[in-house]
Amino acid sequence: MSATIIDGKKIAQDIKDSLVDRIQDLKSAGVEPCLAAVLVGDDPASQKYVASKGRVCEKLGMRRLVHRLPAATTQQELRDLIDSLNADRSVHGILVQLPLPRGLDAKEIMSRISPEKDVDGFSPVSLGNLVLDRPGFLPCTPHGVMKILESAGVDPSGKHAVVVGRSIIVGKPLALLLLRKNATVTVCHSKTADLPAVCRTADILCVAVGKPGLVTADMVKEGAVVIDIGINVTAQGELTGDVDFASVRRKAVMITPVPGGVGPLTIALLMHNTVQAAGQQSSRRFMTADAYAGDGN
Ligand code: NDP
Repeated sequence: MSATIIDGKKIAQDIKDSLVDRIQDLKSAGVEPCLAAVLVGDDPASQKYVASKGRVCEKLGMRRLVHRLPAATTQQELRDLIDSLNADRSVHGILVQLPLPRGLDAKEIMSRISPEKDVDGFSPVSLGNLVLDRPGFLPCTPHGVMKILESAGVDPSGKHAVVVGRSIIVGKPLALLLLRKNATVTVCHSKTADLPAVCRTADILCVAVGKPGLVTADMVKEGAVVIDIGINVTAQGELTGDVDFASVRRKAVMITPVPGGVGPLTIALLMHNTVQAAGQQSSRRFMTADAYAGDGN
């Protein structure tokens, strides 16, 4: 067997294409969707991620701001910046690039982002809405995995989905989204007793760890769908995932490559959330203005 390789770039492009008209409509109404990125320190990977998100914003005709702060930034300085972005009506989405330098409390900063501007979906309100099955911004990478499954025609209902990794930005929300789609979900982590045995029971295997080659062919059930979320840089400077692609593709029925799998979806869905945030904030503003005008009459 040789797996179908899922083209994440194509799925991401379709999402971006679907935003073009909406962005134009908003601009015609005087609203230019704007994403403000906050980059603290000089981590090269973070700089690259922020730059590529900025390029996509530009391509789509959206406004982007980048606030670059030194690694020595204090928690209070970061709080103050978030407060000013929350109050800035021309900013619709706020993205704090993670990880933050040691000494800064990322969870507290995420909690400070106004829920209506939380386009990364990491704030307690967004994550709470996810747990409660209420509408809200979904974290982009797990949402991207669900878009990939949907686009590939994989219905998680009744399937055993194994998620390797339990971070707040990928593993945990992904497990909840798979559960929402009626999968039976197992979440693995660094203390899981026999990772290969659990992985072998997966119909859908999603890996988000950050260890190249962690998942090998002997850990994959024949005919499984394998979604590789990991992004690692090899000694040669190339990107690679957590799954041994060459061997696993011979066992799986479908597999995502790295690069070109989940990564492009993450950015496309960040744009989607920002455009949605711009629409919601502007309509709320118009409604408030109308109500105010009404009061005066
Ligand atoms: P974290 O470091 O926050 O979490 C890693 C998780 O992997 C933890 O839950 C950890 O377990 C678990 N883990 C570590 N070692 C093992 C092991 N040997 N066996 C099983 N589980 C293990 O990483 P993130 O969730 O932030 O990111 C994971 C990967 O996904 C990274 O490569 C990252 O670059 C990539 N990523 C990709 C994105 C994309 O757009 N494609 C977006 C975001 C991340 P424990 O909790 O016990 O420590």
